[in-house]
Amino acid sequence: MPEGPEIKRLSSRLKKVLVDKALAGVEFTYQGLGAYNQELLSQKIVDVDSRGKALIISFSEGLSIYSHNQLYGKWLIVRSGKVPKTNRSQRLVISTNRHSAFLFSASDIQVLKTVDLGSHPFLSKLGPDALGNATTKNQVLEQLVSKRFRRRSLGALLLDQGFIAGLGNYLRSEILFNSKLHPLEKPMNLSEGSLDVLARNILGITRQAYETSGVTNDLGRVSQLKEKGVKRSRFRFAIFSRNKMPCYVCNKKIIREEVNGRRLYLCQGCQPKPL
Ligand SMILES: [Zn+2]
Repeated sequence: MPEGPEIKRLSSRLKKVLVDKALAGVEFTYQGLGAYNQELLSQKIVDVDSRGKALIISFSEGLSIYSHNQLYGKWLIVRSGKVPKTNRSQRLVISTNRHSAFLFSASDIQVLKTVDLGSHPFLSKLGPDALGNATTKNQVLEQLVSKRFRRRSLGALLLDQGFIAGLGNYLRSEILFNSKLHPLEKPMNLSEGSLDVLARNILGITRQAYETSGVTNDLGRVSQLKEKGVKRSRFRFAIFSRNKMPCYVCNKKIIREEVNGRRLYLCQGCQPKPL
């Protein structure tokens, strides 16, 4: 499932091909939304943005398309006139003279007034966005020590979009490993120094993933691995998907566990279990 950095990159690509362009087609094939086809076609798209893992396409006359891809949804951008080869069900296509953006298989699509986005049931519950320009390390620290979150285990917290929006499963393993923290650790038991490192990594690693198309490994280490001819799938992560391989820091074998129903990778040398 794509995480915040993947959705944010997608929103940048959609923005490039759709914003301020004359629209040649807007076609919903999803639960009665076809009624909006004509109305939206006569407008311009003024913005495309992501909030956590949701995508918002805003139109000039005050309407927005909200979509959340859940597990199966997928956007594909092609040259206009082309149709992507896929067996997925088409939900929406927005075309300009040069490009068509197709949305397939998403199970949560709505057209709303842009002014009402703030009270949307999903968006209104999101915590600060890890990829939001205005999100600061202090805001993350405030969330960590808040009454609502301080007693929760980090393994659960780092998947909770109400804590910080945009994090997801690979980011969870990478953030915990780089912060030398076990998933059962709780913010209330951490020193100020550990909380600070964790808050910095929550923003820093997620932003690096956005800028590098998903590479969360240390970039110095990545250069060395690339020089040795190591493939992207092997240098991309510091710990995620590296089951039974040696830890880059202490050489112990990495293990895989299920934490809150999702796979998590950890090093028992670097991330000791709390007492
Ligand atoms: Zn280690």
